[in-house]
Amino acid sequence: MNHFQILIIGGGNAGLSVASQLLLKNKNLTIGIVDPAEKHYYQPAWTLVGAGVFDIKDTEKDQSNYIPKNTTWIKEAVTTFLPEKNTVLCSNDKEITYDYLIVCPGIQLDWDKIDGLKETLGKNEISSNYNFKTAPYTWELIKNFKGGTAVFTNPTTPIKCGGAPHKIMYLACDYWLKKGILDQCDVHYISGASVIFGVPEYAETLKKLVSKYGIKVHFGANVTAINGGTKTISFETKELSKDLENKFSNLQTSDYAIIENKNEDLFSKVSLNFDICHTVPPQSAPDFIKNSLLKDDKNPLGYVEIDKNTMQHSRYKNIFSLGDCTNAPCSKTGAAIRKQAPVVVQNLLALINGMPLNASYDGYSACPIPTQYGKLMLAEFDYSNKPKMTFPFDQAKPRWTMWILKTKILPWLYWNKILKGTA
Ligand SMILES: Cc1cc2nc3c(=O)[nH]c(=O)nc-3n(C[C@H](O)[C@H](O)[C@H](O)COP(=O)(O)OP(=O)(O)OC[C@H]3O[C@@H](n4cnc5c(N)ncnc54)[C@H](O)[C@@H]3O)c2cc1C
Repeated sequence: MNHFQILIIGGGNAGLSVASQLLLKNKNLTIGIVDPAEKHYYQPAWTLVGAGVFDIKDTEKDQSNYIPKNTTWIKEAVTTFLPEKNTVLCSNDKEITYDYLIVCPGIQLDWDKIDGLKETLGKNEISSNYNFKTAPYTWELIKNFKGGTAVFTNPTTPIKCGGAPHKIMYLACDYWLKKGILDQCDVHYISGASVIFGVPEYAETLKKLVSKYGIKVHFGANVTAINGGTKTISFETKELSKDLENKFSNLQTSDYAIIENKNEDLFSKVSLNFDICHTVPPQSAPDFIKNSLLKDDKNPLGYVEIDKNTMQHSRYKNIFSLGDCTNAPCSKTGAAIRKQAPVVVQNLLALINGMPLNASYDGYSACPIPTQYGKLMLAEFDYSNKPKMTFPFDQAKPRWTMWILKTKILPWLYWNKILKGTA
């Protein structure tokens, strides 16, 4: 079959949730899901894998066991959208047509935007929790670290789960604190952001944590290269942190940090040697979205252009989009998808039935940030960047109950309820 009433591009967190929810509302819909991947991943647990408290094997399952019954799985990669013809093209030139389209192929990891990273990732003490293959290596590095310089990076682009680059840093510091070696660890957070967290109420908790662990923070920094051979990270920055200023003014011949220029109008180029590095690559819309008519022309990262409340495409009214690939100015998380999926379902069914689109997504997202082993701050907020707390207590305070939510309850909910459309 090459025509579907509803065609979904991407069978990840968003695609399967929305397909299941649509069928729960109307079991007679004909739905096709296009996705070439044989495996489905629960990515939020990769932080826990990197911290040694979750088995990587439990984050990967056969996609065939999760594709909702009564849908058709087309194991192809979409390459081209022809929205005027209600058609998509796949890599083998297969054409699929639709009445309504839902676009959710996730976000692209641009490893090659950091020189040398692709070649060295997963060895030379350089790891990333953003990759199924290397998340376990993060734990090897943390566990075996005996002191020295540990670097954690965060890119300048929006990413999936904005908290993940620093979540692993807090857990690593707590591990080294308990091991009695934190005072021998020189920990650097090299971040493209200008603040530790965008919501001030939660940022306060994290600022105290950064100070407790003695982490040196470099904001507004763009990592340009990572060299696994020399164990050097290079980044450009306009703001030199006090720590780096001090390091450069007291530079010894044996020291390992160099700065190439320091003109206020120019970016300073900094190189820093490290013993271990956890890195997060820049991210953007998948290339086949960036090169398509669906993209937001005003956004250099090429996301799908939608109305941030209805989730409907701004120009093609029979197309909706959700998840990490959209230009909605929310934090890109599975938690956001939990609130976006019912909006897409309600509005799409309204459109099919000739009714007005009344459902509205408010930008809700959540970021569960472990502050130490056994304690977690559940940051919840919306488009206004104001806290939007679910529980009847101050969620800016890290708690054991929230750690249990992240490590036990949410993984179970994901595989058993969220993908089935019942949570
Ligand atoms: C380290 C890490 C920690 C995280 N922590 C959290 C957390 O604590 N809480 C939270 O809520 N979220 C977290 N997230 C984010 C969460 O995993 C994502 O936001 C979520 O998976 C996005 O869902 P999606 O459906 O948009 O994309 P994905 O789940 O990535 O799925 C995209 C799907 O599209 C398919 N696809 C890609 N290209 C094509 C193509 N050309 N044609 C057809 N199909 C295609 C892929 O095969 C894939 O199956 C984390 C992510 C990472 C990496």
